[in-house]
Amino acid sequence: MHLKTLTLRGFKSFASATTLKFEPGITCVVGPNGSGKSNVVDALAWVMGEQGAKALRGGNMADVVFAGTSSRPALGRAEVSLTIDNTDGALPIDYSEVTISRTLFRSGGSEYAINGTACRLLDIQELLSDTGMGRQMHVIVGQGQLDAVLHATPEERRGFIEEAAGVLKHRRRKDRALRK
Ligand code: ATP
Ligand code: MG
Repeated sequence: MHLKTLTLRGFKSFASATTLKFEPGITCVVGPNGSGKSNVVDALAWVMGEQGAKALRGGNMADVVFAGTSSRPALGRAEVSLTIDNTDGALPIDYSEVTISRTLFRSGGSEYAINGTACRLLDIQELLSDTGMGRQMHVIVGQGQLDAVLHATPEERRGFIEEAAGVLKHRRRKDRALRK
């Protein structure tokens, strides 16, 4: 299983439809400051179901919609599609290629689709769970976080690993339950 293409349209700085193609292996995205490299990573997290505006470096979810520039008016919707090669059947769905899409309208509504068929966010989350992808599973080390990882105390480092492993939410739940 690997990511094949990511298409952004009206997402953050990507006003016009832009498709990135990925080959198996390591992909590097290079470009000047402010050119949209981190926005690509945000789009990836978003289409896989990220629900936290802060994780997407915004104040609220509508901040992902292209806000306009001096030469181009704001747009009314953001769309991201991710196509995954599923020839190894890692995703529990009978297609060798799977495209998940997410659309957000500035007015507030959301749409999700799997291979062009409308679905719920939950369907996407369930499709990706147990694959190492998805909202809880993928591990994105954000800009500036690498330093924090390298300089962390052993306790803090354990916290990062627990977060990546998805254990932290259970620990928080346990702590909450014990306090009651
Ligand atoms: P650096 O090398 O500094 O990390 P970067 O390539 O990661 O830069 P990003 O953070 O991806 O850059 O992109 C920042 C740019 O995206 C800024 O110019 C910002 O104005 C623009 N941007 C973010 N959200 C929107 C939006 N909703 N509409 C239009 N532009 C946006
Ligand atoms: Mg960046």
